[in-house]
Amino acid sequence: AGMDSDYLQVRGLSVEFDGFKAVTDVDLTLLQGDLRFLIGPNGAGKTTIIDAITGLVKATGSIQKSGVELVGKKVHQIARLGVGRTFQTASVFEELSVLQNLDIAAGAGRSVWTMLRRRPTEIPEPIAEALETIGLQDLRDTPAGVLAHGQKQWLEIGMLLVQNASVLLLDEPVAGMSHEEREETGNLLRRIGGERTVVVVEHDMDFMRAFATSVTVLARGQVLAEGSVAEVQANPKVQEVYLGT
Ligand code: ADP
Repeated sequence: AGMDSDYLQVRGLSVEFDGFKAVTDVDLTLLQGDLRFLIGPNGAGKTTIIDAITGLVKATGSIQKSGVELVGKKVHQIARLGVGRTFQTASVFEELSVLQNLDIAAGAGRSVWTMLRRRPTEIPEPIAEALETIGLQDLRDTPAGVLAHGQKQWLEIGMLLVQNASVLLLDEPVAGMSHEEREETGNLLRRIGGERTVVVVEHDMDFMRAFATSVTVLARGQVLAEGSVAEVQANPKVQEVYLGT
């Protein structure tokens, strides 16, 4: 990677819970434009890895974003460095409109005074752009609580975009979605992928096949295989894990 391109480099990442090794010595290199899927059986350590990257669990080893070490930093510091995540259950402000949710996300770190002074009719460019990217322009004044399941997930992604996240970690973004919503989510990930790095923890193999640019397969807290969809599918170790042992 060139000096000016964004990347995430994970080296020797380990996480222990009371002596239990949930993640052991994991290396990952993610480049700008990657739409990387993390797959593996339940308990493989996928969520723990994104928890470690975002500072939610204590880890050893190194996680660098464009050369800046994240291990040891606090959750809000890591977020401010442009690493954003979603959870399996979308966390949006249900009472507030789509626009207000985006506004609050964009305002994180700004003073309340600055927020209050803004005229509510003017939509700042980054928010207008995010609204268009997530396809919710027509629903901008709708309370987030009445959005469809898929739309809530897209709003959450929009909230990361207005926070200028350049690394997005998405935990099972299409769980519970209809077929159409999955397609739309995949297209959304492609749209936002270009200048960013997107990591998707996912169980849906059809979704992975359709949209992953690369795949890391985890098993028992370790990297079992890595490569293109075709490469990991052809890997006998991966087939063994998925077809039963
Ligand atoms: P995955 O996301 O691949 O399903 P997880 O990262 O959630 O796997 O979990 C990896 C392992 O770590 C599992 O055995 C899980 O039970 C364990 N684990 C996860 N979080 C904790 C925790 N907070 N305390 C103890 N064990 C945990």
